[in-house]
Amino acid sequence: MLYFVATPIGNLKEITYRAVEILSASDYIYCEDTRRSLILLNEYGIKVPLISYQKFNEKSRCAEIIEKLAAGKTVSVISDAGMPLISDPGSVLAKELVEHGLEFSVISGPCAAVNALVLSGLDTSAFYMAGFLPQKKSACRAALDKLSKIQSTLVFYAAPHDIAETLDALYESLGGRKVSVAREISKKFETVYRGRLGEDLGITEKGEMVVVVEGARETAEYDETLSVRQHVDALIRDGMDKKEAIKAVAAARKLPKNVVYQVMLDRDE
Ligand code: SAM
Repeated sequence: MLYFVATPIGNLKEITYRAVEILSASDYIYCEDTRRSLILLNEYGIKVPLISYQKFNEKSRCAEIIEKLAAGKTVSVISDAGMPLISDPGSVLAKELVEHGLEFSVISGPCAAVNALVLSGLDTSAFYMAGFLPQKKSACRAALDKLSKIQSTLVFYAAPHDIAETLDALYESLGGRKVSVAREISKKFETVYRGRLGEDLGITEKGEMVVVVEGARETAEYDETLSVRQHVDALIRDGMDKKEAIKAVAAARKLPKNVVYQVMLDRDE
């Protein structure tokens, strides 16, 4: 049997009894970084061989893991932190297991996206896990353009050195929506910064962070008796910033953004 086992994202105590039991009973544990995972195994006195399993050797490791399963071995797969497969390796293996008709299970546990969503105070009824944004600017903009239409709350992962760039890119594409940034979740210095995109959220420290942004407003329906200006003003009164309101009005009325922008500019002059 194969188990994808969730491991702590900070505090080493945030692991289930069952995860410790399954890891201890495994014949092999596949992990991203053997040195890092050894710290966890030592903490719980787990003495099981660790084998590296990373993005670049995922394919070749699959064949090896499938052989072990066929020989009746118990194999666990963990990542450096949190739930395997969630912005971490493992999905190639899961796909292969399904194709080979092999059963696998998941041992529940931490996932930074879920903690950050709960910490955000934003709408949790539906959310979209966007993971990491593409590094290339054009690809990032294209991805955000698609995401900007989604009405569910958006969740993004950000590497410690990328947070300022990520927030800038989000503001550029999504305007001044509500945002929450959860830093160092479950660790001693866990902090949550809340505000709006484009504002200074006061993030001075580095660290692992998850960014949660409110989803797009319903813009398809609007009061047709309103002029373009009145429509923009109404959305601003509802809490949008000007840039976001212009974008929303343009989308709702199927007008080019620069036309709505010009209308507002003429009014402001
Ligand atoms: N599989 C992991 C999970 O279940 O959350 C995510 C792995 S992904 C490679 C790493 C990213 O997760 C980080 O860049 C950060 O965005 C987020 N992350 C992981 N641990 C975190 C923590 N303790 N606090 C805040 N964000 C964290």
